[in-house]
Amino acid sequence: MTGAPTPLLIGGALVGGGGGVFPTINPATEEPIGVAADGDTADLDRAVGAARTAFDSSDWCRDTALRVHCLDQLRDALNAEIETLREITIAEVGAPRALTHRGQLQTPVDDLRFPAATAKSYPWQVDLGIAAPMGVPTLRTLVREPYGVVGAITPWNFPHQVTFAKIGPALAAGNTVVLKPAPDTPWCAAEVGRIIAEKTDFPPGVINIVTASDHRIGAQLTQDPRVDAVSFTGSTATGRSVMAAAAQTIKKVFLELGGKSAFVVLDDADLAAACAAAASTVAMHAGQGCALTTRLVVPRESYSDALDMVSAAMSRIAVGDPNDPKTLCGPLISAKQRARVQSYLDLAIAEGGTFHCGGGRPAGLDRGFFIEPTVIAGLTNEARVAREEIFGPVLVVLAHDGDADALRIANDSPYGLSATVFGSGERAARVAAGLRVGTVNVNGGTWYCADVPFGGYKQSGVGREMGLAGFEEYLETKVVATAAPGAQR
Ligand code: NAD
Repeated sequence: MTGAPTPLLIGGALVGGGGGVFPTINPATEEPIGVAADGDTADLDRAVGAARTAFDSSDWCRDTALRVHCLDQLRDALNAEIETLREITIAEVGAPRALTHRGQLQTPVDDLRFPAATAKSYPWQVDLGIAAPMGVPTLRTLVREPYGVVGAITPWNFPHQVTFAKIGPALAAGNTVVLKPAPDTPWCAAEVGRIIAEKTDFPPGVINIVTASDHRIGAQLTQDPRVDAVSFTGSTATGRSVMAAAAQTIKKVFLELGGKSAFVVLDDADLAAACAAAASTVAMHAGQGCALTTRLVVPRESYSDALDMVSAAMSRIAVGDPNDPKTLCGPLISAKQRARVQSYLDLAIAEGGTFHCGGGRPAGLDRGFFIEPTVIAGLTNEARVAREEIFGPVLVVLAHDGDADALRIANDSPYGLSATVFGSGERAARVAAGLRVGTVNVNGGTWYCADVPFGGYKQSGVGREMGLAGFEEYLETKVVATAAPGAQR
């Protein structure tokens, strides 16, 4: 999978980067798999210019049929090259092969159908009828319009999911887009750019993709006055910078940020089933998911049983080569992320915790950025490892003293992205109702779906991605008030 550098997509052309190239690394082997174009300030500037021109000087924002056609074409073209995309995703992201048949690749590609269908049936104009609030009979029309140029900034953990959940609705709504992918996964985005350029009728400049090794290219996108809206997914710390930078030009900001989600087990739940679900959730893709539940909150009287059960379930998880279809827990993305997760494991011990299982490098995996699925015991929700996002296969097990206490612990977090509750019907429903989070799984229910809005309360974000709410994030609202015939003064 080595060869020519992957290109940028600017103004409809596949081009090299002004900054030369930068390597992309296979996290399972620590070996470079190739190089990507390194977009610089001038490249980003040209990409924003191309997106601006495409929005201001073409019919893209008015031609819903063209937009639906292009998005349908893109979905078909991605599906036609899905095996190439799969191999790139496994090699570059370290994504377990099994997950590429679901949330890492296939599901988000298929989900492109939703924004296209929404655009087709959307009420772009709504007649609000005649009213005379100031004495002038007036015909009022509500018009929904795209923002203009959207800057989309993405992380590396689920690159296709986040990319398509942004560019799908942004383009379907009639915006033009500049996508700035994470430096760790440039090939995933560049391959999408190649497919768009070679296999679809998107007009030049409607979608631009600038891979770059330097995070400052993302910052530049948030500052450019020609960009109307920024759609950002990443860490809460970076989200804060994005919001501050965007404030200078009062851009619409949409933020999907970090999480420290709780898995609450009530005393009438099936503890073994809950522990098995908690283990596989936190170990999936090595814990590199914003909404994964990383705090297991169990009844105090079952604490020791829960530790044993969850650790036994963790030890059964297939860790290792992401190419192996049985693997659930592959490597972390980079040496930097591995060092960060290791520093949290060291912190857990310094805070007085113990490892009930894991805590180091998995046996036999001497190369690659692997970390053992780890269960931390003996701490309270005050510990930093229970409050801060670790982004590894690390579960902190906490004790609660009843439903109200469990809810208090779950909500005692700066984040509010997601949660799980296991327990009998009414009690679980009461806890779910009290949770200050964007999505709740009750007894194993699945909230992830193209028509379901996803996002966070508190410091987990602003706005919603996917579903109708996610589509409408990319729309402005205009009202045209026309004096009714014969009503002019
Ligand atoms: P990150 O915040 O380090 O980087 C995300 C993106 O922002 C990258 O493309 C990066 O180049 C860019 N960037 C960095 N500094 C910037 C700046 N000052 N201005 C503009 N852009 C800048 O995040 P990451 O390490 O790539 O991803 C992991 C994080 O993403 C975790 O915190 C995870 O929870 C979060 N995440 C959230 C969701 C969600 O939907 N809530 C989904 C996936 C990941």
